Amino acid sequence: MLNLPTYDDIVAAAGRIAGHAHRTPVMRSRTVDQELGASVYFKCENLQRMGAFKFRGAFNALSKFDERQRRAGVVAFSSGNHAQAIALSASLLGISSTIIMPNDAPASKVAATRGYGGKVVEYDRYKEDREAIGRALAEEQGLTLIPPYDHPDVIAGQGTAAKELFEEVGELDALFVCLGGGGLLSGSALSARALSPNCRIYGVEPEAGNDGQRSFRSGAIVHIDTPQTIADGAQTQHLGNYTFEIIRRDVEDILTANDLELIDCMRFFASRMKIVVEPTGCLGFAAARAMKSQLRGQRVGVIISGGNVDLTRFCALLGS
Ligand SMILES: *Cc1c(COP(=O)(O)O)cnc(C)c1O
Repeated sequence: MLNLPTYDDIVAAAGRIAGHAHRTPVMRSRTVDQELGASVYFKCENLQRMGAFKFRGAFNALSKFDERQRRAGVVAFSSGNHAQAIALSASLLGISSTIIMPNDAPASKVAATRGYGGKVVEYDRYKEDREAIGRALAEEQGLTLIPPYDHPDVIAGQGTAAKELFEEVGELDALFVCLGGGGLLSGSALSARALSPNCRIYGVEPEAGNDGQRSFRSGAIVHIDTPQTIADGAQTQHLGNYTFEIIRRDVEDILTANDLELIDCMRFFASRMKIVVEPTGCLGFAAARAMKSQLRGQRVGVIISGGNVDLTRFCALLGS
């Protein structure tokens, strides 16, 4: 039996990140309320430090390191927001970080990770196994490996975003959460259970990679090949053991959105709400729009998970 995190762990995480993470704004749009016939509250984690909610889980996990772990340092493998979240959190806490990234990762991401103080170790993603490299480094140098989603401290940290949302706007009828490996979704579900027990929680993943939906409906974790989608933050191949247990207990359903719907949301956020949202960050809103007939008259939360997108790519996607 796994020892699943609880709402108490989220409360403790909120205490640890206070003064380090931003309490991000909740935005509204009359245009959205009219389109959906509902009251919609956007929790803007695109405005979080380093540009995504992942700072919350990373900072919480590293804050719990003991003296020996702090001295040795942390290792993580990621080409995306988890890398930057670990690098930034580690340097704020005076811990050294090693990030394992594919040698074809975008230069901007490698530079951002180095800029936050991370030591980047490159690997060949077609020939080498990053988990094996991470485990070897962890063993040789005594580093602690922090995974991007399947870890109780990471889940508890991610749950603080929904906690803030419920505290600010009160109970909701439905909450839409972007889904990759399920850290944000499971943490959000734990907060909802405590603060808005009747709220229906929906996870939303890319249509091209609906392993979460298939896992949820079949009752066992489904593994897939890396999906082809512009939602690069949700190109995970499977849910985690912790995240799946919580999702299956506390989540209403898993929905999907396709790339065209995501681009449409990116355009809407930029032109009407004046915010830059990365493709993955649009998953929640895309699904809420698609099921608007069932949301009429309700109070609806949407977590915008991140805003890290290269501007050249952003323009190319909007122009397509
Ligand atoms: C990591 C990430 C996700 C997916 O989060 P999980 O906890 O893996 O489900 C969604 N959006 C953004 C912007 C991310 O960086």
